Amino acid sequence: MKKNRLDKFYNKTVDDRIEALMDGNYTEKTSVEKFKKSFILPEELANHMIENQISTYQLPLGLGLHFLIDGEDYLIPMATEEPSVIAAASFSAKTIRRAGGFTTEISDRVMIGQIALKDVENKEQAIKAIENTEEKIIEIANDAHPSIVKRGGGVREIKVRWVDADVEHNTPAFLVVHLHVETLEAMGANMINTMAEAVKPYLESITKAKAVMGILSNYATECLATARCRIPVDLLERRRLSGRDVRDRIIEASQFAIADPYREVTNNKGIMNGIDALVLATGNDTRAIEAGAHAYASRSGQYRSLTKWSKADNGDLLGKLTIPLPIGTVGGSINIHPGAKFTHHMLGNPDAKRLESIIVSLGLAQNFGAIRALVTDGIQKGHMALQAKSLAINAGATGDEIRKVARALRKEKHMNLKTAEEILTELRK
Ligand code: NDP
Repeated sequence: MKKNRLDKFYNKTVDDRIEALMDGNYTEKTSVEKFKKSFILPEELANHMIENQISTYQLPLGLGLHFLIDGEDYLIPMATEEPSVIAAASFSAKTIRRAGGFTTEISDRVMIGQIALKDVENKEQAIKAIENTEEKIIEIANDAHPSIVKRGGGVREIKVRWVDADVEHNTPAFLVVHLHVETLEAMGANMINTMAEAVKPYLESITKAKAVMGILSNYATECLATARCRIPVDLLERRRLSGRDVRDRIIEASQFAIADPYREVTNNKGIMNGIDALVLATGNDTRAIEAGAHAYASRSGQYRSLTKWSKADNGDLLGKLTIPLPIGTVGGSINIHPGAKFTHHMLGNPDAKRLESIIVSLGLAQNFGAIRALVTDGIQKGHMALQAKSLAINAGATGDEIRKVARALRKEKHMNLKTAEEILTELRK
């Protein structure tokens, strides 16, 4: 990372930050004005992307700094409305960088399409009929989207699941057929939906059952990404707390987030602060990633933390996050949204597996930042500093007033809109 150009990035003006990015060749050399325009969504394009479009809705785009992932440097574009998320990610990444950075493991990128059958008269016969015709089912599915097969992907195997009837919830039994599809660089929703619908009539004919639907599953248990970090305790010291104390407190916090659902939800929300910001900035489907992540957190039967922090034999702090990441680098809005094109370029046009590595590392950094703050300074100290700016703007401050009102507000016992307005009135006198 060309540190000199990014030093005190947060203290620079927006134009100076962009100049620094261009100077450091983090993005193409062009004028600041052109740079800013290059990731704005044109109205006409927006109109073709959704229905009943009336305008565009913007969010700030910032950069997570200091990320070292599998030995490579990254500046991570993040689209978020929440103050302190990017600061926390960058601060965490800085510590983890000094500890050697993140290491990641990415599984094969296999997505699941499911066909649900009901009114199955003979369970065993129906399952056997599917198993005996696996090749034919794969052929029908692949023929429905031959271009992915030409690219080297397509259906890899078929799995059959039986879901029992549930009297309490008034649900009948279902025979569910899963198509495991290698989608290469795409998330694959459309190709999988096409394939699932194509095999529906054939499955009905061989099982004598009725197909309820054929659709992609967003529970992408065959497309998992894991990030790890290992932090020596001397990098964890915080004011009067020793590194060992901070490590032990982080582990306790992690245990709490595995034991209690009320904490787990907030813990995982913090992880998703970073993940959603990057998934959104790269033109990917935030809802698919959110739904899959929370289902994965519940895989043991209880909703639990997605991260785990533990102690290594030599006393280092070990962090681990595993999450399903069915994202793409092509398809959907990725190839058409100028902002998405810009963010992919900024990340060095990674392939889908590399993008998963970046996303999962960001999630782990975000969790480390939140837990470290919670068990040391408390979360409010950093958060409220940034919240003060929002209150100042809310109170009507503009230009340099924002900084002045926010600074005065932070000295007040009660930081709220009324106080911000009083400070602004006083300042304007
Ligand atoms: P698209 O169908 O838009 O794009 C994927 C296509 O890109 C492929 O079918 C393939 O078509 C082409 N392609 C080009 N290069 C490659 C490559 N290297 N690897 C793979 N494919 C390649 O997108 P997706 O099917 O991925 O769907 C993503 C979108 O679907 C998102 O916007 C999402 O919001 C939306 N969606 C999500 C649902 C969900 O439940 N999560 C449901 C429905 C839609 P070809 O080979 O023919 O060129």
